[in-house]
Amino acid sequence: MRILIISIIVILLYACGTPKGQVLTSAPLIEKPVKPKIAKNVIFLIGDGMGVGQITAGTYANGNKTSLERFSVIGLHKPYSHNSLITDSAAAATSFACGVKTFNGAIGVDNDTLPVRTLLEEAEAYNMPTGLVASSTIVHATPASFIAHNVSRKNYEEIAADFLKTDIDYFVGGGKKYFDRRTDERDLVTELTTKGYAMGNFLEDFSTYKSKNNTANKIGYLTSDSDPLPVAQGRDYLIDASMHGIEFLDNKSTGGFFIMIESSQIDWGGHSNDEDYIISEFLEFDKLIGQVLDWAAKDGETLVVLTADHETGGFTIQPGSTMDSLVTTFTSTKHSGDFIPVFADGPCAEKFSGLYENTDIYHRIREAYGWE
Ligand code: MG
Ligand code: ZN
Repeated sequence: MRILIISIIVILLYACGTPKGQVLTSAPLIEKPVKPKIAKNVIFLIGDGMGVGQITAGTYANGNKTSLERFSVIGLHKPYSHNSLITDSAAAATSFACGVKTFNGAIGVDNDTLPVRTLLEEAEAYNMPTGLVASSTIVHATPASFIAHNVSRKNYEEIAADFLKTDIDYFVGGGKKYFDRRTDERDLVTELTTKGYAMGNFLEDFSTYKSKNNTANKIGYLTSDSDPLPVAQGRDYLIDASMHGIEFLDNKSTGGFFIMIESSQIDWGGHSNDEDYIISEFLEFDKLIGQVLDWAAKDGETLVVLTADHETGGFTIQPGSTMDSLVTTFTSTKHSGDFIPVFADGPCAEKFSGLYENTDIYHRIREAYGWE
């Protein structure tokens, strides 16, 4: 009887898995790849205004295929801000960058308007190279929230001046006029050049740029005076600038890097209730995501996190649709309050499963880096 009970207990223990730290001598030896417990690099991808409707329509428009299918982990976040169930991009990006819920329009400040250190600034404090790439201006709400601190997203010139207060290593986006045609008459392009940035269009011939053994230790490329064009009208830098940025930061880094890359204009397609605009921007982003996942898979130490700040337009697929011919509607020209999918892959990706606050993305990225 006693032997039977002991046997049952032993069987139950095996069935429930072994306690931590105990070695199973009788278990067969299976060679498991050792996954790093922390992520060396984080590539944070944001599709502005990219809700489930946008992802679905983009996937069907792409022959029922998307790079998003390659992510191993999916979660959902709650995008509301401190003062509104319907967030704007500034409050949302500040939640990702700083881990606080704040008021709509806030850039890197909390609900009391106090500046909060961003992920990018913290990475810099750890001596890690950092980057920002966006298909909007680089001072627009989403990228701005990772580098600037301001009570209003509309203070573009003040936000541009904050680029001089950090050691960001790489940034690409529009909005040159906020740097070199300012009301205070400062020329930030010259100031950045003095600080060691190469400030030209290095993308035109990146291989020449590299083979010249260019010693610029930082790169900033302002792609247009104001908003960059939609991809359908000829904007073509997002993919190249992102992949070169990843390479550049990886080459500079010994202890890992941080980069945030934003496909900014999916949101603008939503605001203008323009399905084709949404889909063309999504397809460019999808291609970039595929290249990022390829790079990260080869690297093996990079966590890739992809999400949106909010959905835009209340965009849905209606009855009468087929995969080849969608019937879509918008419920408004504004943001909606829907929960937003989060995709993760690489070391610590499992931290991103579940349903959680948008601020948890900040905390989970910090945990992935192993930051105390
Ligand atoms: Mg944005
Ligand atoms: Zn928007």
